[in-house]
Amino acid sequence: MTNIHPTPLSAPAETLAGPGFDQLPLPAAMLDNLWQLQYLTMTPIQAASLPLALAGHDLIAQAKTGSGKTAAFGLPILTRLNPKLFKVQSLVLCPTRELAEQVSQEIRRLARFADNIKVLTLCGGTLMRPQMNSLEHGAHIVVGTPGRIMDHLQRGSLQLDHLSGLILDEADRMLDMGFYDDISAIAKQCPRQRQTLLFSATYPNGIAKLAGQLLQNPQQVHLHEQHASSKIRQRFYEIDDQQRFEAVATLLKHYRPLSTLAFCNTKQQCRDLQEELLTQGFSVLTLNGDLEQRDRDQVLIQFANRSCSVLVATDVAARGLDISQLEAVINVDVSPDPEVHVHRIGRTGRVDQSGWALSLFSPQETPRVNSISQFMGSDPEFHSLSELENSNPSPLQPPMVTLQILGGRKDKIRPGDVLGALTADAGFKAEQIGKINVTEQSTYVAVERRIGKEAARKLSAGKVKGKTVKVRLVLKG
Ligand code: ADP
Ligand code: MG
Repeated sequence: MTNIHPTPLSAPAETLAGPGFDQLPLPAAMLDNLWQLQYLTMTPIQAASLPLALAGHDLIAQAKTGSGKTAAFGLPILTRLNPKLFKVQSLVLCPTRELAEQVSQEIRRLARFADNIKVLTLCGGTLMRPQMNSLEHGAHIVVGTPGRIMDHLQRGSLQLDHLSGLILDEADRMLDMGFYDDISAIAKQCPRQRQTLLFSATYPNGIAKLAGQLLQNPQQVHLHEQHASSKIRQRFYEIDDQQRFEAVATLLKHYRPLSTLAFCNTKQQCRDLQEELLTQGFSVLTLNGDLEQRDRDQVLIQFANRSCSVLVATDVAARGLDISQLEAVINVDVSPDPEVHVHRIGRTGRVDQSGWALSLFSPQETPRVNSISQFMGSDPEFHSLSELENSNPSPLQPPMVTLQILGGRKDKIRPGDVLGALTADAGFKAEQIGKINVTEQSTYVAVERRIGKEAARKLSAGKVKGKTVKVRLVLKG
């Protein structure tokens, strides 16, 4: 069968069967423009969030890159906007300059139905002065990164008292980059009476905290197909007690998860397992209650930013841990408490990801497995280690490495300063940079493994926040 209807060239695949924009309370000129842009039908995130956002609700929406988010918040912003009022009426916060520029461009396209709507991009890595001049000429919509927006607020070059819409785009990514404090400081300078829309691909705990602080009676938008695929695949492996550590290595080599949390019942067992895995060439750290806060932070940062692939912990030590992308949980010992077991494995398979929950048990531990399956109301899936052929026996290397900059909050270093030093000054791409964590004394930045040494060298040779800094590669694990 031939398709006689033209399909828009730039349309994402999901647009093909959705409802039309003409169902929405949008002005005719805007609908015409959408038609000209070949926006014929809504993407799922647009269909789910536009009716709510146009009705004025605050929203928490789960949406990934390429899902058509910009129109999902751009259209509500634009319909509410008063073009005659030359004040900033909407602010869109994005994690990086590239994303902010894309959003600005897309909003400008959506704004073509009206004359004279000014969209301004404010990001780091460029001079303040020209941005201040543009602000003096007035802008209706500002799109920018939290660090640079803060700079303008502090200098008084940006005022938000006429703001009616605050948008957080890719909120999880912004939290990853350490922008929590900046975002909440920015929100404090916005009028209370406003609409706040938060978009995020994943839901680490920080998102709920941020939403609780910034949003009022928010509506939640989840996309069904993504929700349904959230899944924990659970397998039990029977082993002999003396095989236990070897078995953990076998599982890691077979499943090759990027991030694994391995639970032991005792501290001593954590230490022994770490030693064994280190000998085999794995990148592994342990968390135990004896660690000082600063060391604990360093371990968690390295694990969460993907420069360490295995974290060994007891239940107590893992309490309160907030990691959004765990591919696997390994129970080195089965917990005697089924509730603890369920809690452990619930850490994998979040949002749209599936995760492995792999448990080792010795014949004496069989009753524990039985009570777990009773508690969970499902039959355990038993597997044998001998099924696992290690065709590729080398341990997986983590994709990132961590650089430690000796200087942190006490030196007024902010994530944007480090990102700027690495991208604008040292010439790396934003995609090569991972999470940035600023602690009181130090700043940790994850970079792609293969640029680790070069990034450390360039950072030491250059300047962060106008100062020379000491930088070292954190090689533990
Ligand atoms: P996201 O911010 O979620 O990554 P964008 O808003 O940048 O996604 O949209 C991705 C691409 O899809 C853009 O090129 C945009 O012009 C296009 N697009 C978005 N919504 C529609 C639609 N309803 N119909 C056709 N194209 C669309
Ligand atoms: Mg986008």
